[in-house]
Amino acid sequence: MMNSPIAFLDVLAACTELRPEIDAAIARVLQSGCYIGGEEVERFETDWAAFCEARQAVGVGNGLDALRLALMALEIGAGDEVIVPSNTFIATWLAVAQVGAVVVPVEPDASTCNLDATRIEAAITSHTRAIMPVHLYGQPADLDPILAIARRHGLRVIEDAAQAHGARYRGGRIGAHGDAVAWSFYPGKNLGAIGDGGAITTDDAQLADRLRKLRNYGSSTRYVHEMAGMNSRLDPIQAAVLSVKLAHLDEWNARRSMIAARYRDGLADSGLALPQVPPWAEPVWHLFVARHPERDALRERLADAGISTLIHYPTPPHRQGAFASMASLSLPISEQLHREVFSLPIGPHLKPDEADRVIEAIGLLLTR
Ligand SMILES: *Cc1c(COP(=O)(O)O)cnc(C)c1O
Repeated sequence: MMNSPIAFLDVLAACTELRPEIDAAIARVLQSGCYIGGEEVERFETDWAAFCEARQAVGVGNGLDALRLALMALEIGAGDEVIVPSNTFIATWLAVAQVGAVVVPVEPDASTCNLDATRIEAAITSHTRAIMPVHLYGQPADLDPILAIARRHGLRVIEDAAQAHGARYRGGRIGAHGDAVAWSFYPGKNLGAIGDGGAITTDDAQLADRLRKLRNYGSSTRYVHEMAGMNSRLDPIQAAVLSVKLAHLDEWNARRSMIAARYRDGLADSGLALPQVPPWAEPVWHLFVARHPERDALRERLADAGISTLIHYPTPPHRQGAFASMASLSLPISEQLHREVFSLPIGPHLKPDEADRVIEAIGLLLTR
């Protein structure tokens, strides 16, 4: 085949498109002499909070720390249980385990791959302190029933929004529905830095204040340590780059939506199970995840045709060495999803004709 290969995601293209502005932003930080915190971080925090329709944003080192710090700030730790989706990137589970709390997995709704709210109450015990929904693949979880359950049982809600920058739930941005919302700016996310970065958004000013201390050795005044904090601060170079990219996030998400619409149209009768979008959800298509029982063979054939796909994720958290003590759990919905899901190339720099080539290749393979 003469066609050039189709990459899963081109993160270099995102920087190339904005290269002069990014260069200027980095030069500004170099020249400022301020290499921890400062104006660049504060400006990005203000802009990110506004974008997320939240009152507060606190920049931190990465998405895992954002989750851990949210738990710490809400004083969730040893002896506490936290409800998490059985299918998620392992960071959601690790954050809970690393503050000393116990993960209690709840199965997803197989059609959206997001936490099934109808299964949550059965998992609540006298030790449950929080529910941690994940807006997986860029699609908002059904927050209203989750928030209602949390209110009824006096639980906190911490959202893992690491894949959902710009997504909307019933018209409002993801950003402050729960007590705290954790973000990652890992380069491949919809809003990605040129290294690690993360943030927590919230409407609770007191919680934000605790988070600002916890990310900085438990301190707001130099050498005064009110609590046992971490060192997890958003780097000013990353903040400056993120500010440049934030101005383009809506447009880049719209490009992702256009690719997703093409896939959903072009693959409607292909035999693939396609992502379902509930009427109240405006996803941002961090990933376009389809399902097929012969996933592995299909991916191999697509690779032969020069089309890169990935699996999000190949192994459920309870079957990872990191959670060996939970290996005997039976979580059949998650396990089946992990056997069948695979992700098609998508991103703001994937060209429509490349998406058409993916559609065509899948059509040829599945009708054979
Ligand atoms: C990327 C991601 C994280 C972790 O983000 P890092 O910045 O890599 O630590 C957490 N949760 C989910 C669902 C993610 O996709």
